[in-house]
Amino acid sequence: MANVDPFENASQQVHDACDILGIKDKGMRDYLTMPNRLLRVKLPVKMDNGKIRVFTGFRSQHNNDRGPYKGGIRYFDPEGGVKYMEREVMALSSWMTWKCAVVDVPLGGGKGGVFVNPKKEKLSEGELERITRRFAYMLSEVIGPGKDIPAPDVYTTGKEMTQIMDTFSKLNENKYSPGVITGKPISMGGSLARNVATGLGAAYCVREAAKSIKLKLKGAKVVLQGFGNASTFAGEYLEKMGAKVIGASDSKGSIIVQNGFKVNKLIEYKKNRGSVVGFPGSKKVSTEQLLTTKCDILIPGALENQIDKKIAAKLQCKIIAEAANGPTLPEADPIIYQKKIIVVPDILANSGGVCISYLEWVQNNMGYYWSFEEVANKMEANITRGFRDTHALSKKHKIDMRRAAMVLAVGRVVEAFNQKGIWP
Ligand code: NAD
Repeated sequence: MANVDPFENASQQVHDACDILGIKDKGMRDYLTMPNRLLRVKLPVKMDNGKIRVFTGFRSQHNNDRGPYKGGIRYFDPEGGVKYMEREVMALSSWMTWKCAVVDVPLGGGKGGVFVNPKKEKLSEGELERITRRFAYMLSEVIGPGKDIPAPDVYTTGKEMTQIMDTFSKLNENKYSPGVITGKPISMGGSLARNVATGLGAAYCVREAAKSIKLKLKGAKVVLQGFGNASTFAGEYLEKMGAKVIGASDSKGSIIVQNGFKVNKLIEYKKNRGSVVGFPGSKKVSTEQLLTTKCDILIPGALENQIDKKIAAKLQCKIIAEAANGPTLPEADPIIYQKKIIVVPDILANSGGVCISYLEWVQNNMGYYWSFEEVANKMEANITRGFRDTHALSKKHKIDMRRAAMVLAVGRVVEAFNQKGIWP
């Protein structure tokens, strides 16, 4: 993994979209690929043993032509080290720009984090809070409700988001500032429906994809890879739409139940037994068997780099909705396209999370809060439109949905840039 430069990958996707959009100007391409600002900070923290330890933090602000930067803060230690993390946050901030643009939420792209793995290191609550508040202090001049709005990501939760909000508010004349960050607990100004957002958004995408190929959702067979937040809610909502889940997996293994099962029964089983494996009536299968089993809808909802060209050649589904980030390798895309499987790419299929983060920020700015249904309906409108616009472009240019989503997103950012021009 450390040999792959994620920022090169992200930039290549922008160049591909520029090729289709006829953007030849090198300056414009540089503008679209490079982040507007990359901040690297030193975080001295007093540890519980009384010693000082210095952590490294990043914030990459990729593009804000369509609105304030938006994107997660992760606490992670990728194997390529601090240098790799810098490239990773640059890439992830670029993908956030395109994710917001494809579903037309008026936000830009950002990403950041601290090079630390709180799970591996078993940091105390106090140590974590001191890292978080120091990081918030160092970011305080570049974040804000109208500037850059972070959110939770790998190994960060509503707790850290509350600490960032509190630190920011105290540094700004004690002004209550919930709109500086999203993913907050409900009691701190969080939004209803945030917990189900990604899975629900993926289910809306599947519904639209099914319509586009005239597949009836009633009785359609669904396979979920992973059985966490994104995939369980995607499964539950697809079940409500009439589909039948027949397969699932987690880090301990994969299972198939040919006649299908109720998602809530498997949730209960996994809660008690710690895994989906061993679920009554199920057959244990390999990851490859799970992904290539005959079904209508495949939801990769766990990890990146799961579908390579070998698996792609054996796929037997009609729709893939990428709830996870980056589950399909670039080498697999042409094979899947040739097989006429419709892929809803990650920047669209898992954009429910950022849609509801946007709606959380809107509610914070208004000081007025919507019901679950109101939030879900607004998200549905953004995602449905995002799907239809992407699908139309994929037909127009005869390209797969992944490239079409990038063409749509890059086109929208270029349009905003052209309205403003360059100043100063
Ligand atoms: P999660 O931790 O809740 O669930 C992850 C699931 O994957 C768990 O069930 C875990 O057991 C399983 N898993 C781990 N290793 C596996 C393996 N080798 N094979 C099969 N399953 C394995 O995480 P999540 O929030 O559901 O995120 C899953 C994916 O969705 C990630 O790629 C994440 O970036 C993406 N995503 C999530 C959200 C969100 O709001 N939750 C938003 C956007 C994107």
